Order: sequence, then C-alpha cells, then structure tokens
Amino acid sequence: MINYDFDLFVIGAGSGGVRAARMASDLGVRVAIAENRYLGGTCVNVGCVPKKLFVYASHFAEDFAAAQGFGWTLARPQFNWSQLLAQKNKEILRLQGIYDNLLKNSGATLIQGAATLLDPHTVSVDGQQYTSERILIATGGWPSIPDIPGKEHIVSSNEMFALDKLPERLMIVGGGYIAVEFAGIMHGLGVSTTLCYRGDKLLRGFDQDIREFATEEMDKKGIKILFNTQINAIEKTADAYIAHDAEGHRIETDLIMYATGRKPNTSGLGLETISVNQNAKGAVIINSDYQTNIPSVYALGDVTDRFMLTPVATAEAMALVNQLYGTVNTPVDYDCIPTAVFSQPNIATVGLTEAEARHRHGDIDIYKSEFKPMKHTLSGLNEKTMMKLIVRRSNDQVLGVHMVGPDAGEIIQGMAVAIRAGATKTVFDSTIGIHPTAAEEFVTMRKPVA
Ligand code: FAD
Repeated sequence: MINYDFDLFVIGAGSGGVRAARMASDLGVRVAIAENRYLGGTCVNVGCVPKKLFVYASHFAEDFAAAQGFGWTLARPQFNWSQLLAQKNKEILRLQGIYDNLLKNSGATLIQGAATLLDPHTVSVDGQQYTSERILIATGGWPSIPDIPGKEHIVSSNEMFALDKLPERLMIVGGGYIAVEFAGIMHGLGVSTTLCYRGDKLLRGFDQDIREFATEEMDKKGIKILFNTQINAIEKTADAYIAHDAEGHRIETDLIMYATGRKPNTSGLGLETISVNQNAKGAVIINSDYQTNIPSVYALGDVTDRFMLTPVATAEAMALVNQLYGTVNTPVDYDCIPTAVFSQPNIATVGLTEAEARHRHGDIDIYKSEFKPMKHTLSGLNEKTMMKLIVRRSNDQVLGVHMVGPDAGEIIQGMAVAIRAGATKTVFDSTIGIHPTAAEEFVTMRKPVA
C-alpha cells in the first residue's frame, strides 16, 4: 500500500472546497486544503456576501423616500462610500476568521499558496510537494473580459467591491444577474447607471414574463437600459471613457464595468501536465461522480462551469464526500434549483419557466398576478410585484414558481420546498394565506390567465 501524505488534497478554499475539506476531515479523513488568495473564495470575498451587503446599502435610498409617506421627516440623508467599504471589509475579515477556525477545528491542514498538479497523486505549493490518494479541484471561476481595444480600462465585479470612490456615471456591460444586480446597487447609491446589453432581453434563462416585468421596473426606477448594443472599443479621454458601439455611437461615462461571463479558474493548475480533460472554456470535465478522466482527480463547483451558485458547490461537496467516505449517499438533484437575482425589486424562481413547461408537457395552466404591494399605497413609490405559477393540467402539479418583488428570494425559498415535495395547485389553494403579505397571493390565485 502506498503511503500518501494525505487522503484528500483540496485545491481552493471557496464554498465547495471548504465544505468538502471540513466534512471529510470530520469523518476522519486526512485532508489538506490549499488556498492562494482568500479563505471563503468568491462568495465571501467578491460575490454573494459583499454583493448582498451593497444591495442593502443601496436600498436605503428608496426606504428614505418611502418613509415620508408614513409620516417621517428626514434631513437629507448622506451616503459615505468609504464607510460602507470599511464596514463590508470588516465583515469579510470576520467571515474569513470563521472559515479559518472551522477548517482548523476540523483538523484539516491549511496550506497557503497556489497549488499545481504534478502527477495524479502529487501537488506542489510554492515548491513544496505533497502526495495524496485523491485530489479535488475546487478553484472556482474568474471574470472574463473580452479582448477589445481599450480592455485595460474595464473593471469587473472584483474591482467594484473596492473602488476608491463612486463614479458619477457608470456603464455596465452584460445582461446576466451580476450586471443586473450591480445596476440596481449603483443606481441606488446615486450613480447615473447605464446597462448595456448586446441581446434584446436581460436575464437569459429566466421566465419570459419575469424578464420583461423586471426590466420595466428597473427602467421605471431610472436605470438606463440599452439593448442590442455591442461595444467594440473603449477609449480613454482626459476625464472620461468613451465606449464605441458597433453602430458607431459613442457613450461617454466615468467607469465601465463588464459582467459578460466568468471563466473557470484553471490556468496554471497543471491540468495539461496530467492530461485532465477540459472543455473549450477550460472547465474541468467530470462524470456524475465528480470524477475527471484521471481516476484520482475530482472537481466540483464553478470550475466545472455548470450552475455557478454557492449552494450548488456546497451540495456537490457534501455529495462527493459522502460518496467517497460516508455511509449515506446524498446526490444533488439539479432539476429544481431555486435561485434569486438581488436586483431591485428582487427576482426569484424555482422550477420550470413557462416556455420549458410548454415544451416538456404541453398541457399547462398559467396563473399570474401583478399588483402594487401594500407598502407602496402610502410610500408614493410606483414599484409593482409580479407572481406567476405554472401548473401541469393533467396532474395538477405546480411545475414553476416565479416572482419579481420585495424579498422574492426569501419567499421562493419556502416555495422551493413545496415544489420539491411535488405540491399540486390544489395544495397551494387549500393552504391558508398569511395576511396581509405579498406571499399570500401565491395561495389565492384562482383563475388561470393562459
Ligand atoms: P470559489 O468560491 O470561487 O473558490 C475557489 C477558490 O479557489 C478561491 O478562493 C481561489 O482563490 C482558490 N484558488 C484558485 N486557484 C487556486 C490554486 N491554484 N491554488 C489554490 N487556491 C486556488 N452565488 C449564489 O449562490 N448566490 C449569490 O447571490 C451569488 N452572487 C454572486 C455575485 C458575484 C459578483 C459573483 C462573482 C458570484 C456570485 N455567486 C453567487 C456565485 C458564487 O460565488 C460561486 O458559485 C461560488 O463561490 C463557487 O464556489 P467554488 O467553491 O466553486 O469556487
């Protein structure tokens, strides 16, 4: 029997890597985990956590405006970006400390530095070699910036979390959730924001009605949205940037952020050295057991370029560790993953879109409700909410639940449990609502609209 230094060597201490390392270590496995940048990975440092803190910060602008309708008189509120950054950084440091403790307490060996694969059982970190029976690649992803003239002037979401000061004008290029969320954040913080997308609808993959409704709401709030706009070059002038589009238009702005996708973090990992199969984007190709074509090497999370969500990375980590070292199997069900966009208003969804449901099943009833939330009867704000249920007529099963409105993520998380349990429309209808809430609308939609 070969004596390896470790049973499991995890590369990357982000959402997936930390969960795998901790869990395996708790099961008595000898684990090492290497991290070259920051504990907690993207989610904690430049993703979900700071993003959500920024969303809270920016929403105060509307909250202050709304308060007047409820009898409050406020002095003109002032916002201090440096103070928000300092608070955010303090919270991230706290979370990094928690991750550090969790790993140490579990007994895993934490190694700082960039890991490179030397052979199917050997990893090198800063010149030091470690052998391991198994190696797990959990190196996540990185913003991908297109190769256009002037690309050196572009910032990504990473830099947005550490800007020295807020620009007066910002152009965000992209139509996915990161672009949409940052548009809401920056607009709320008082930045004149333009969202520029080469397609004709934001948020590909979401239900069509939701995409259109959310876009209208963002537009009503004052975010400028340019569709069918392809930026070909960026020019720096003395005091601004000019984005040149394919039609010859010039858009002047003070900062340009690209959120046009993320690429798997695989360069310099040594995957080519040991011939780990990758797709054209560089993502690690795995089978349903998270195993690459090299039997001792596994991968999960964003580096496999599939669902790119923290709860998916952690669920995959638990599934893999249970499968390799546990006594129970906990496979991930990829069919019904709930997700939210922390735009303003929020979007959240679980299950099939209307188009997917029609394509798969044909016999579909659609229930839809658009209304002004109770809060806005006095707030003076003009924001609306939309809720939509997709029901299979033949067996009454609710196949999809979609929402645009305040706290949609919080509401849809509960709906996701019902959908996973196979709830029917009859179950929804016989559930007593909580009054007065927006969420009660989900159990009171009686007539299909289509
Ligand atoms: P990561 O968390 O990226 O961790 C990978 C780690 O590996 C990193 O710490 C990296 O430094 C390290 N690493 C890389 N190469 C090496 C190497 N050679 N050696 C050692 N270490 C290495 N998801 C949600 O579910 N909800 C959200 O609201 C959400 N918001 C997001 C907002 C933004 C702006 C972004 C960018 C992402 C967001 N995500 C969100 C996605 C989420 O952050 C990722 O899906 C999740 O972090 C993936 O986890 P992971 O373990 O695969 O990779």
